[in-house]
Amino acid sequence: MPRSPTHSAAASRSATREVARLAQAAHYAARAHKFQQRKGLDAEPYVNHCLEVAELVATAEDPGDVEVVIAALLHDTVEDTAITEADLERDFGRRVADLVMAVTDDKTLPKEARKRLQIAHAPGLCRDARLVKIADKISNLRALVRTPPAGWTPERLADYVVWSQAVVTACGPTDAVLEAEFAIAHAVAAVTHPPIEAPLIRAAG
Ligand code: ZN
Repeated sequence: MPRSPTHSAAASRSATREVARLAQAAHYAARAHKFQQRKGLDAEPYVNHCLEVAELVATAEDPGDVEVVIAALLHDTVEDTAITEADLERDFGRRVADLVMAVTDDKTLPKEARKRLQIAHAPGLCRDARLVKIADKISNLRALVRTPPAGWTPERLADYVVWSQAVVTACGPTDAVLEAEFAIAHAVAAVTHPPIEAPLIRAAG
């Protein structure tokens, strides 16, 4: 049976409301990160990263609903800006706040501990949070190739490439499209920033 004009108008209004929530989240992320730039040599506005992560999540094989894309837009707000979990709950609801907190590191811990915990916690994340986590690593690996951070040593760059694979592996099977995108980004980054081998030549005698 053909859909009634009333039904399609209501569906269209509901789709527009979802787009409005997305636009609100993008604007919110842009304001929250307005003084931040990416670490790369071309110092892109930080929000470019948030937009890329959201685009990746939205183009996953199964992206879930609009709140997962909203969480992707906001995924670094609590970790890197003055925005709090309570702010996110007030402005975007409990589920978005939960998703963002699931991918937020405890900044009171040393960097190495935070990196270990990302691997340890990955298997326990819900699928929606794993989508954001994998998309974040894809965006970061692409950035390491396109515009590596000023001041990072070859060892640090290579370590990030190896560690990102460990995090994504720990996530387990999540989404074929994002996993394929990660595999490409990782392969390119591993060529650009190969593992540093210990010197094989030892002094004779
Ligand atoms: Zn991020």
